[in-house]
Amino acid sequence: PKGPPPLENQINNRHKFISKGLSISYNTPIHMESAIFQYMFDRHGNRFLDAYNNIPHVGHQHPKVVEAAQRQIAKLNTNTRYLYDALPQYAEKLLSKFPDHLNRVFFVNSGSAASDLAIRLAQNFTSRTNIGVVQHGYHGNTRTGIQISPYKYMGKGGTGRAENIVEAELPDSYRGRYRGASAGEDYAQDYINLLSQGEPLAAFIAEPIVGCGGQVPLANGFLRKLVPHLRNSGSLYISDEVQTGFGRMGSHYWGFQMHEVSPDIVVLGKPIGNGHPMAAVVCTQPIADAFDNGMEFFSSFGGNPVSCEIGLAVLETIEEEGLQKNALEVGNYKKDLFTTLAKQFPQIGDIRGSGLFLGLEIIADDDLTPHTQLASVIKNELRNRHILVSTDGPHDNVIKSKPPMCFNKTNAEELVSAMHEILTRNT
Ligand code: PMP
Repeated sequence: PKGPPPLENQINNRHKFISKGLSISYNTPIHMESAIFQYMFDRHGNRFLDAYNNIPHVGHQHPKVVEAAQRQIAKLNTNTRYLYDALPQYAEKLLSKFPDHLNRVFFVNSGSAASDLAIRLAQNFTSRTNIGVVQHGYHGNTRTGIQISPYKYMGKGGTGRAENIVEAELPDSYRGRYRGASAGEDYAQDYINLLSQGEPLAAFIAEPIVGCGGQVPLANGFLRKLVPHLRNSGSLYISDEVQTGFGRMGSHYWGFQMHEVSPDIVVLGKPIGNGHPMAAVVCTQPIADAFDNGMEFFSSFGGNPVSCEIGLAVLETIEEEGLQKNALEVGNYKKDLFTTLAKQFPQIGDIRGSGLFLGLEIIADDDLTPHTQLASVIKNELRNRHILVSTDGPHDNVIKSKPPMCFNKTNAEELVSAMHEILTRNT
């Protein structure tokens, strides 16, 4: 019987037309066919538990989001140069999730376009060029995106730090230079000292938990000390909430709230459209007003009626299904299970993150030596057991789990018991 083509053929076919720079996950790639909520299905009908993907935020193919998209795309899809209700309605609903001073929004189509625009807004508002970033941070694939992303410019194929970039050492209280209660302030003081040696920043951009850096929460106190200093120097603070926003932290709707600071500009992406390509920049009125200097701001697709309806459906679903609370409860439960597992397996060196945004740092038995190979075994063996996670971080030894927000306690148990089996066999 004629079955689907072998994986090798499919991979070769892909490389015939698409750059190898586009990576494929897992030693044995998966041909995905469909998905629903926290489950994905391959071409053989195998069910995979998605413990990894934070883009389908309220669940893969959530019926409410699908319905909103289908309804609106059959009716009207146009650019923002016409009047339609979905744009102000969605903008109002989205901004209601922010502190009062963050009351203007620009819609674009990717996190990269959003962080690029955030930098333009900041440079325009301050008439400065220097940008502060965090070591190992990632903000996007545009030219500016790469320039402000140490993960890229210092990584493989990177060409190093541009002149206008001032990099803060990763405020990592597990593996970093400073640990303990005052680590955050110590990192902030070092960075403030570094900043005092050069031109003041237009803006400092950071993720509340550095995702690509290995799910490293900025050490407690780092932003609380740094942000007032930035304000005093006339510099803006940009929070990149592409990974951490929309209730994923469980305890808070936005990651910056965990750090008890308030940004001037916020970058949104990934979960905002549950997989539909949309993103946004939220800022203060003075920043938006200063940008309105006569040059039109236009994005062909940003803020179109279909995207707005989808965005609205996502916000409503988070509320209706209590997904932030779920992230808190399931996230805490999952963290507890991991903590118990770590008592048995010292190779789990650190369990960190918040809500449904966790990282497990895999190390050699009794010191901080990264165990990249074991992390890879865990990831690939989980895949063979039909559970999806990823690895990341400068040593690629951090297991990342940031599933759709409908992930439940049974799912957490499945993940942790599979990890128990894998660690038992491989340590
Ligand atoms: N910021 C962060 C923190 C991200 O993780 C990403 C994507 N991984 C981006 C920005 C860029 O978003 P996009 O891929 O939608 O351009």
